[in-house]
Amino acid sequence: MANDCLFCKIIKGDIPADKLYEDDELLAFWDISPQAPKHFLLIPKKHINGPAGITEADAELIGKLVKKGGELAKENGAGSYRLVFNEGLAAGQTVFHIHMHVLGGRAMTWPPG
Ligand code: AMP
Ligand code: ZN
Repeated sequence: MANDCLFCKIIKGDIPADKLYEDDELLAFWDISPQAPKHFLLIPKKHINGPAGITEADAELIGKLVKKGGELAKENGAGSYRLVFNEGLAAGQTVFHIHMHVLGGRAMTWPPG
Protein backbone atom coordinates (compact mmCIF):
# COMPACT_ATOMS: atom_id res chain seq x y z
CA MET A 1 0.00 0.00 0.00
CA ALA A 2 1.25 3.46 -0.88
CA ASN A 3 -0.24 6.33 1.11
CA ASP A 4 -0.89 8.78 -1.66
CA CYS A 5 -1.92 6.30 -4.31
CA LEU A 6 -5.40 6.61 -5.77
CA PHE A 7 -5.65 2.94 -6.66
CA CYS A 8 -4.42 1.81 -3.23
CA LYS A 9 -7.26 3.93 -1.82
CA ILE A 10 -9.73 2.16 -4.11
CA ILE A 11 -8.35 -1.21 -2.93
CA LYS A 12 -8.77 -0.15 0.72
CA GLY A 13 -12.31 1.06 0.00
CA ASP A 14 -11.51 4.68 0.90
CA ILE A 15 -12.57 5.77 -2.60
CA PRO A 16 -15.51 4.06 -4.32
CA ALA A 17 -15.19 2.28 -7.66
CA ASP A 18 -17.53 0.31 -9.87
CA LYS A 19 -15.93 -3.09 -9.34
CA LEU A 20 -16.42 -6.04 -11.65
CA TYR A 21 -13.96 -8.52 -10.15
CA GLU A 22 -11.96 -8.98 -6.97
CA ASP A 23 -9.88 -11.73 -5.41
CA ASP A 24 -6.99 -11.85 -2.92
CA GLU A 25 -4.49 -10.45 -5.39
CA LEU A 26 -6.40 -8.58 -8.10
CA LEU A 27 -9.11 -5.95 -8.50
CA ALA A 28 -10.96 -4.87 -11.64
CA PHE A 29 -13.15 -1.78 -11.94
CA TRP A 30 -14.74 0.18 -14.77
CA ASP A 31 -12.72 3.16 -15.96
CA ILE A 32 -14.23 6.46 -14.83
CA SER A 33 -13.49 7.98 -18.25
CA PRO A 34 -14.15 5.13 -20.69
CA GLN A 35 -12.41 5.22 -24.07
CA ALA A 36 -14.42 2.30 -25.45
CA PRO A 37 -17.86 0.77 -24.75
CA LYS A 38 -16.13 -1.80 -22.53
CA HIS A 39 -13.22 -0.23 -20.68
CA PHE A 40 -12.06 -1.46 -17.33
CA LEU A 41 -8.82 -1.50 -15.37
CA LEU A 42 -7.28 -4.55 -13.78
CA ILE A 43 -4.75 -3.96 -10.99
CA PRO A 44 -2.73 -6.03 -8.56
CA LYS A 45 -3.45 -5.23 -4.92
CA LYS A 46 0.31 -5.06 -4.43
CA HIS A 47 1.50 -1.52 -5.12
CA ILE A 48 3.89 -1.49 -8.11
CA ASN A 49 4.53 1.91 -9.71
CA GLY A 50 4.20 0.72 -13.28
CA PRO A 51 5.50 -1.84 -15.77
CA ALA A 52 9.08 -0.74 -15.09
CA GLY A 53 8.62 -1.64 -11.42
CA ILE A 54 7.84 -5.30 -12.07
CA THR A 55 10.42 -7.66 -10.56
CA GLU A 56 11.07 -11.36 -11.06
CA ALA A 57 9.05 -11.99 -7.89
CA ASP A 58 5.99 -10.43 -9.57
CA ALA A 59 6.09 -12.65 -12.66
CA GLU A 60 3.35 -15.03 -11.52
CA LEU A 61 1.14 -12.18 -10.29
CA ILE A 62 1.39 -10.26 -13.56
CA GLY A 63 0.81 -13.46 -15.53
CA LYS A 64 -2.39 -14.05 -13.57
CA LEU A 65 -3.43 -10.45 -14.16
CA VAL A 66 -3.05 -10.70 -17.94
CA LYS A 67 -4.87 -14.04 -18.04
CA LYS A 68 -7.71 -12.71 -15.89
CA GLY A 69 -8.02 -9.62 -18.10
CA GLY A 70 -8.78 -11.81 -21.09
CA GLU A 71 -11.28 -13.87 -19.13
CA LEU A 72 -13.09 -10.78 -17.84
CA ALA A 73 -13.13 -9.26 -21.33
CA LYS A 74 -14.90 -12.36 -22.60
CA GLU A 75 -17.32 -12.56 -19.65
CA ASN A 76 -18.25 -8.91 -20.12
CA GLY A 77 -18.88 -9.14 -23.84
CA ALA A 78 -15.90 -7.08 -24.97
CA GLY A 79 -15.54 -9.10 -28.19
CA SER A 80 -12.14 -8.25 -29.62
CA TYR A 81 -10.17 -6.28 -27.08
CA ARG A 82 -6.93 -4.45 -26.46
CA LEU A 83 -4.75 -4.77 -23.34
CA VAL A 84 -2.69 -1.67 -22.55
CA PHE A 85 -0.09 -0.82 -19.91
CA ASN A 86 1.18 2.76 -19.96
CA GLU A 87 4.65 3.42 -18.52
CA GLY A 88 5.71 7.01 -17.93
CA LEU A 89 4.19 10.42 -18.54
CA ALA A 90 4.87 10.59 -22.26
CA ALA A 91 3.11 7.27 -22.73
CA GLY A 92 0.05 8.66 -20.96
CA GLN A 93 0.49 7.16 -17.50
CA THR A 94 -1.39 9.31 -14.99
CA VAL A 95 -1.79 6.88 -12.09
CA PHE A 96 1.44 5.38 -10.76
CA HIS A 97 0.00 2.08 -9.56
CA ILE A 98 0.38 -0.45 -12.33
CA HIS A 99 -2.88 -1.08 -14.17
CA MET A 100 -3.87 -2.92 -17.31
CA HIS A 101 -6.49 -1.22 -19.45
CA VAL A 102 -8.92 -3.66 -21.07
CA LEU A 103 -10.66 -1.94 -23.97
CA GLY A 104 -13.26 -3.55 -26.16
CA GLY A 105 -16.67 -3.28 -27.74
CA ARG A 106 -15.61 -1.26 -30.77
CA ALA A 107 -13.26 -1.52 -33.73
CA MET A 108 -9.83 -0.01 -33.10
CA THR A 109 -7.11 1.42 -35.23
CA TRP A 110 -3.36 0.94 -35.16
CA PRO A 111 -1.03 2.64 -34.37
CA PRO A 112 -2.55 4.14 -31.20
CA GLY A 113 -2.19 7.89 -30.65
P1 AMP B 1 -3.29 5.84 -17.23
O1 AMP B 1 -3.53 7.12 -17.98
O2 AMP B 1 -2.79 4.70 -18.05
O3 AMP B 1 -2.47 6.07 -15.98
O4 AMP B 1 -4.73 5.36 -16.78
C1 AMP B 1 -5.36 5.80 -15.61
C2 AMP B 1 -6.81 5.52 -15.81
O5 AMP B 1 -7.46 5.60 -14.56
C3 AMP B 1 -7.52 6.54 -16.74
O6 AMP B 1 -8.10 5.84 -17.83
C4 AMP B 1 -8.57 7.18 -15.82
O7 AMP B 1 -9.76 7.46 -16.50
C5 AMP B 1 -8.75 6.11 -14.76
N1 AMP B 1 -9.22 6.58 -13.48
C6 AMP B 1 -8.73 7.64 -12.77
N2 AMP B 1 -9.39 7.74 -11.61
C7 AMP B 1 -10.31 6.75 -11.57
C8 AMP B 1 -11.31 6.33 -10.64
N3 AMP B 1 -11.50 6.97 -9.48
N4 AMP B 1 -12.08 5.26 -10.96
C9 AMP B 1 -11.90 4.61 -12.12
N5 AMP B 1 -10.98 4.94 -13.04
C10 AMP B 1 -10.20 6.00 -12.78
ZN1 ZN C 1 -1.00 1.93 -5.15
